[in-house]
Amino acid sequence: MSLALHEAGRTDSVSTLPYRGRFAPSPTGPLHAGSLVAALASWLDARAHRGTWLVRIEDVDTPRCVPGADEFILHQLAACGLTPDEPPVWQSRRGHLYQAALDRLIALDGVHPWAYPCACTRADIARAHERAGHPKARHGELVYPGTCRPENGGLHGREARAWRLRVPQGEAGVLHWHDRRLGHQEQALDTAVGDFVVKRADGLWAYQLAVVVDDAEQGITDVVRGEDLADNTPRQLHLLRLLNLPKPRYLHIPLVRGANGEKLSKQNGAEPLDLTDPVRTVRAALAALATPEAGLMPGWTADEPQPTPAMGELLASAVASWRPSASASARR
Ligand SMILES: [Zn+2]
Repeated sequence: MSLALHEAGRTDSVSTLPYRGRFAPSPTGPLHAGSLVAALASWLDARAHRGTWLVRIEDVDTPRCVPGADEFILHQLAACGLTPDEPPVWQSRRGHLYQAALDRLIALDGVHPWAYPCACTRADIARAHERAGHPKARHGELVYPGTCRPENGGLHGREARAWRLRVPQGEAGVLHWHDRRLGHQEQALDTAVGDFVVKRADGLWAYQLAVVVDDAEQGITDVVRGEDLADNTPRQLHLLRLLNLPKPRYLHIPLVRGANGEKLSKQNGAEPLDLTDPVRTVRAALAALATPEAGLMPGWTADEPQPTPAMGELLASAVASWRPSASASARR
């Protein structure tokens, strides 16, 4: 399915399409307990909807990728009974699709261009905030102050580093969406994020653009992923709207936290999955989805039945218990 095809079809709803879901790991290291929970959630949701489940290797951020981690992740998934229904794709091999999308954003009509080149470094952005008298950001990215917007004088003779995408201001910049577990969500893109990078200063594609292009190109109807990515959704919805691509349904699942209460991640040293007893490892991941907070598998019991079920049986019983709070087919 090509982007051009979608454009011709002018569909903005996935409700009539057959279910297609995906798990999209970054090969920055092996899967850990938290990433297995996300993989299982997307797989269970796909199976419960008798849909197709894909794996996409999100390796656009090449400096962060670990050689061989992609194949190891596929091996870990297979050991846990999770085999994609179609061959996996690698984002690093899909640059032409992202370039085509950027070209379309650049060519869009508007009072001002939607995509524009930006020459600002991180320090430039911090200085612009200082000059404007804004308090120092507590953490994370600073909202882009619009320095290189064409109506503000563009690059001011500096060399372009990155491409940014304009976000609508004020009322139009508030994006609303429905999450199948969290319900109604909204974010004011202009005050929360600002014009965001779609092609980075180092020439790499930004995560937001790659995800949106791939989900559309792969016909993904349902995005099931960790709650830490929920606040990326409005940027992706903005991109979908500008590119005239269909909007998937979203289900954000709770994060698995370590003993210190922080999200389990490769960055804070989460251990690779223990595959000496995969059934036990999968059972532990299912227990994380069956908590009352998650609310995704009411009635699932973590008690270990005797004898221990085979992986196929365990997964089949999990599919039968899978009840995301709202059914994907019931919405819209
Ligand atoms: Zn700039």
